[in-house]
Amino acid sequence: MDSNKIFLSESDLPKSWYNIAADMLEPPNPPLHPGTGQPLGPDDLAPLFPMALIAQEMSAERWIEIPEPIREAYRIWRPTPLHRARRLEKHLDTPAKIYYKNESVSPPGSHKPNTAIAQAFYNKEEGTKRISTETGAGQWGSALSFATNYFGLECLVYMVRVSYEQKPYRRSLMQTWGASVIPSPSDSTDSGKAILEQDPDTLGSLGIAISEAVEVAAKNDDTKYSLGSVLNHVLTHQTVVGLETKKQLEIAGDEPDVLIGCVGGGSNFAGLVFPFLGDKLQGRSNPRIIGVEPTACPTLTKGIYAYDFGDTGQLTPLVKMYTLGHDFVPPGIHAGGLRYHGMAPLVCQNYVSGSMEAVAYHQNKIFEAAVTFARTEGIVPAPETAHAIQAAIDEALAAKAAGESRVIVFNLSGHGYFDLGAYDAYFDGALEDYEYPEAKIQESLKKLPQL
Ligand SMILES: *Cc1c(COP(=O)(O)O)cnc(C)c1O
Repeated sequence: MDSNKIFLSESDLPKSWYNIAADMLEPPNPPLHPGTGQPLGPDDLAPLFPMALIAQEMSAERWIEIPEPIREAYRIWRPTPLHRARRLEKHLDTPAKIYYKNESVSPPGSHKPNTAIAQAFYNKEEGTKRISTETGAGQWGSALSFATNYFGLECLVYMVRVSYEQKPYRRSLMQTWGASVIPSPSDSTDSGKAILEQDPDTLGSLGIAISEAVEVAAKNDDTKYSLGSVLNHVLTHQTVVGLETKKQLEIAGDEPDVLIGCVGGGSNFAGLVFPFLGDKLQGRSNPRIIGVEPTACPTLTKGIYAYDFGDTGQLTPLVKMYTLGHDFVPPGIHAGGLRYHGMAPLVCQNYVSGSMEAVAYHQNKIFEAAVTFARTEGIVPAPETAHAIQAAIDEALAAKAAGESRVIVFNLSGHGYFDLGAYDAYFDGALEDYEYPEAKIQESLKKLPQL
């Protein structure tokens, strides 16, 4: 078939999410209580999350049914198209076939509402009135605002102050969907006040914003907290991406040789690859699977595999993951969504067992890929997504050098229309390629919790 796009009908929307915990070579490592070092129980998480999500977090069931109201919300933009990148293939003069799953077509412009909609639904069901969260550049905040508005919940977003001031349009988007957006640190929480007393002019950080959002949820019965990546239930919700892609590749008559996604906390990557990785773990197929990260925040390629905190403030549970240390502050690269010190435990466990690979790229290189993609395929990708595009290009060129055909599939996790300032900086030659800050990482790794 010579199609450019492979569409599914709304009735093809998956009826269940896929939970890879059922097929792991070894059972997932449990999260530990930050105070006692003992495995967490459901009650430890109850102040922060609705029970349905806690159950999914700990579930070993392979298939988790998607409630009909969530499928109805998904149908606003799902199923998303799978594109064949014919003009990019031609530009590269490669015998490889390149496909991309277009998650940029959601209203907030990324894969993130796949979990935001699910989380808002379960909170509504269990009587939550308000959801608090943090956001850096605003992608997660806008996805959650879209979802809470859909289900009639209030949304309180702590947005890292420097982004609040420098990136006003994502804030406008959140406010359009009815969210309250507070620059963090703020005087609305004790943790925010404490930081402001020390340093009134601080730019803020994701770690501080997490502490504020968690504090509000812990102190208010009607408020729960929500996280947009890393956690098992978030990755599970994202598998609608890979399940649809499987059906679309079947229609195209192709099987993937290589699957690629950019990795920040790991959710869009997992969403695309886990349904295929499940088959690989069960010996039914053997595609290569590649996670792509920035050289400036090289969690998988340079981090160590250990129990660490999810946040700077040491409020979250300890999880076993590749980490650069919970107080590692990466350089201010423009792929803000990939500046996280840790990585989803389910992704890490598959990396350490050798079921997947990882590569890292500098930011000038990925913007070059982004511009090539925009000039061939038309879509302007998010800087995060451009990491996956660069890896797909490298695979296609390797196939050309080897004179072999290869089916390459990557996740187009989001568009870059709110990131044009970063494109400007690239065109002005103002982007710095940060060498991996070895000394800083070593310093942070010294502070890993001793168990
Ligand atoms: C948030 C974001 C990412 C990184 O988060 P993951 O959980 O690793 O997927 C990647 N791409 C886009 C477009 C994002 O908004």
